[in-house]
Amino acid sequence: MSETVDAQNGEPHVDKYYWQKKDFDPACSVGNSFDFQIWGRAILGGSEDRCLTSGPLAANLRLAVSLDKVLHRFGRELRRNGTKNGCRGTQAERIGTFISHDWGSRGSLKFMSLLLIFNSRAAAVIAVSVSVMVALLEAYDVMPSRSAERLVGGRGYITHSGEASLCGLVAYLFILCFWQRILSLCGRSASVFLDKLCIHQENEKQKERAILGLAGFLDISDRLLILWSPSYFDRLWCTYELASWLRLSGMKDTTVMPIHLAPALFAITFSLWSSIIIFIYAVTIQDYFLGSAVQHSGSDLLTFDVVLGVAVCLCALVGGVILPTHLSRRLANSLRLLPQQLESFSIREANCFCCTHHHVHPETKKHLPCDRRLIFKTLLQWQQDFTGSGESVATLEALDFRIRQKLKPWVLRHIGGSHVPFSMLLATSCVPLMCSTIDLIPAMIELGGVPAFRLGLDAILQSFVLGPGVATAIMMISAAGFDCKNHVGCDLFLTLLKSTASSLVIAIIWASINIPRAILEHVGWQLAVGAVLLVPTTAIFRCCCSKAVGGSE
Ligand SMILES: [Zn+2]
Repeated sequence: MSETVDAQNGEPHVDKYYWQKKDFDPACSVGNSFDFQIWGRAILGGSEDRCLTSGPLAANLRLAVSLDKVLHRFGRELRRNGTKNGCRGTQAERIGTFISHDWGSRGSLKFMSLLLIFNSRAAAVIAVSVSVMVALLEAYDVMPSRSAERLVGGRGYITHSGEASLCGLVAYLFILCFWQRILSLCGRSASVFLDKLCIHQENEKQKERAILGLAGFLDISDRLLILWSPSYFDRLWCTYELASWLRLSGMKDTTVMPIHLAPALFAITFSLWSSIIIFIYAVTIQDYFLGSAVQHSGSDLLTFDVVLGVAVCLCALVGGVILPTHLSRRLANSLRLLPQQLESFSIREANCFCCTHHHVHPETKKHLPCDRRLIFKTLLQWQQDFTGSGESVATLEALDFRIRQKLKPWVLRHIGGSHVPFSMLLATSCVPLMCSTIDLIPAMIELGGVPAFRLGLDAILQSFVLGPGVATAIMMISAAGFDCKNHVGCDLFLTLLKSTASSLVIAIIWASINIPRAILEHVGWQLAVGAVLLVPTTAIFRCCCSKAVGGSE
């Protein structure tokens, strides 16, 4: 569809085009509430002869905020709609990360995404370190520990149990929530640009100057973080930020994070942790029922291990698979929209506050200048950067073409699949299993030799095959095949169906790790089974890395 262009100044008749759209309904294109829109990037005052600037910003506008303030009180600033607290930014020469997001999506999802990106790695490292420390203190009898019996190669070994995983869980939760606060106390919290906190929302003059100079913030930012939600490409200001960054750095140092990924990953991680805690307490129950003073035969323990495994699988199914499957389905459903959105991308169809309200402020009834006109004028000035030629192109097709042809493959490569990068799984679903197998360290130190090797192999398989295997199975099955979320019954049925399928696959992975470990007496066989399990796991992750969720470049 071609747009009409004013012969005098090359400016498109944007409003004319906009109102010609037959299916336009202002109510549909508004975000969650009116308040949200007021809060957004709409410039409420100002004259029609304003223009967007991409040069250096004045020092009093160049504000950044520490990530600690963004995450403060579990992301209160991200969740709330009001403007009561005003600007929290402080003057800065450079900004670490520019956070680009749409105002209509849920603040709690953005909060979890920021925890995943900025805090989860530190939380994983510290949780594992704390578990190792506790295990060593137990090994040298500094800390009391409960003993448990573990069946390896048909023989029971006395191991220590419980405390390392529990301490790991506490450390993981604490660091996940408060890592930026700890860094901030040392003056090292990440510096970010978040429009809500870095643009004056109450001082209209300052607000207008900062919004008009948005490209200047991107210019002094080292990295762009896109918190992607299904409505991201529909928002005009989000598209403008993306276009500015595309022009400045060509998608270098860009991270795209679908906001539904973090809840799904955290649900899987904490489900694994709860299953492990149940397992640990079940070992105490085993001691209670079988009596720890009696020397058990291998078959007694094997029976109990199998019963315990089935019990944990059932608990995991009820409490631990259904919720992660439901959240993973939401992620998969949102990602399904992405290829079509990018394929048919048109900046002229993106929504903005002024046009949605017919350029009349819905509360004060004052005239609103058009942000669309402003943005289109700037984009037309940037045409040469997008087309790569000196030829002036008087339409917005060039940007649409750039997004459809160049950005689409890049975005789909990074957030298109149902596969989470292994590095992200290392910081989430692997951690509970790593912490729980660290409990084996004291026994490995005591036993040495072949038994220590058997236990070490067991720990590696649990941490690096079972951990990522569980997350991958849930996410891939949730994304597979037909999906329907419009009908409550159908939605529930699909969650239950996909949970059952995920549980079966998880049970198979669990059995293929644990049953050979328990019954194969010769260490060579165990090594062979370990290799058989590790090879496909590595292959799956290497092959699927090119199509991963939430990647960065
Ligand atoms: Zn407008």
